[in-house]
Amino acid sequence: SYLDNIEKRDGDVQAYLYLNAEAAIEKAKVIDAKRAANEPLGALAGIPMAIKDNMCTVDMPTTCASRILEGYYSPYNATVVEKLYGADAVILGKLNMDEFAMGSTTENSYYQKTHNPYDLERVPGGSSGGSAAAVSAGEAMFTLGSDTGGSIRQPASFCGVTGLKPTYGAISRFGLIAFASSLDQIGPIARTAEDIACVLPTLMGHDSKDSTSAVFDVENYMKHLNQDVRGMKIAIPEAYFGDGLNDEVRKVVLEAAETFKAMGAKVEHVNMTNVAYALPAYYLISSAEASSNLARFDGVQYGYRHEDFETLEELYMKSRSYGFGKEVKRRILLGTYALSSGYYDAYYKKALQARTLIKRDFDKVFEQYDLVLTPVAPTTAYKIGEKSSDPLEMYMGDIYTVPVNIAGLPAISLNAGFDQQGLPVGMQLIGKTFSEATLLRAADAYE
Ligand code: GLN
Repeated sequence: SYLDNIEKRDGDVQAYLYLNAEAAIEKAKVIDAKRAANEPLGALAGIPMAIKDNMCTVDMPTTCASRILEGYYSPYNATVVEKLYGADAVILGKLNMDEFAMGSTTENSYYQKTHNPYDLERVPGGSSGGSAAAVSAGEAMFTLGSDTGGSIRQPASFCGVTGLKPTYGAISRFGLIAFASSLDQIGPIARTAEDIACVLPTLMGHDSKDSTSAVFDVENYMKHLNQDVRGMKIAIPEAYFGDGLNDEVRKVVLEAAETFKAMGAKVEHVNMTNVAYALPAYYLISSAEASSNLARFDGVQYGYRHEDFETLEELYMKSRSYGFGKEVKRRILLGTYALSSGYYDAYYKKALQARTLIKRDFDKVFEQYDLVLTPVAPTTAYKIGEKSSDPLEMYMGDIYTVPVNIAGLPAISLNAGFDQQGLPVGMQLIGKTFSEATLLRAADAYE
């Protein structure tokens, strides 16, 4: 049925970069046979899902939506992919994204533009635009995205679905092609918090192959659902509701806060002064890390290599010039500049100092509150092409999501309501580290 939906809708939506239909059907048959024979089955047996194309898969290409990895097959699976296969999930294919996860609209893909299922003329958000659009269009029951500065939460918000960015270190990054290693985190997108609670334990857990992977107890998140939010303390930081926030988005999100109040939560306004530094700090740190991480794409070891060269230097130069898109090159330049001698103290080091201050802001709020409630993005989904010529304006759209990555916290993006045009408005709930159960409980109560 999901393959039928893909057949019907993906010509318009264009969420999939690669469809593994035959293998998926084979896998489903094997699961059916096991079930008929009463053999033990994994926790996600038969559930059709799909993966953002920056997670390594042996049996499907992994391109990061970049020309530089065109046709690339990884010799190993990402840990999450191994875990999904181990749980008998059915992987339908690989999903479109902004090249190397840099962007907020999925327009930066080398291969195709993904369209928002609510209005095909609009962007699905990004960089996990394919992952959010696929769930929204009924082309997968759940998907995996990655979130470095909002790339799970913002597309979930634009496409009217639910997305979780887990605590940094909760899901292994082994086999996730790195953008900014200290910020990147894999997470699920699904129709509801309940679906996320169902799939999350399979994805989580310590992995010795990822040196930043955390050691912690994976909970049964389903146990925390169908409860109320009575007595929960929710903070609303003024800094997230200032100038630049669209009035309709503000209204819908503040109404959602009222709904939490009506359900018995305590909702109060708070001050968080240092989040104002989050956006510049994010673009410095993420670009610095990206410039280093992307140095490995040299035209020798992986993917695309320019044909016409005489020296090794020229091979590197041409392969990278033609292999990377405009936005990726912009980030590499920004990051290389920020890290270069003479500028390091002024930019990168300053950004790390801001990072500490932002973390402290959150620590302080979480001494008194269980959750922080904010908008996900300043606007609802905009038209394809509307912001693509102005990178700075595009970066501004990440203002409410990046503080979470800077602080390593978990956050969930869920649908709060709709604007007057019928476009989905998302709200974000942020929790302290490893408070996924609280986030899911509150999101589920609202849904
Ligand atoms: N839009 C942000 C950026 O372009 C976030 C991307 C992400 O989370 N991968 O960097």
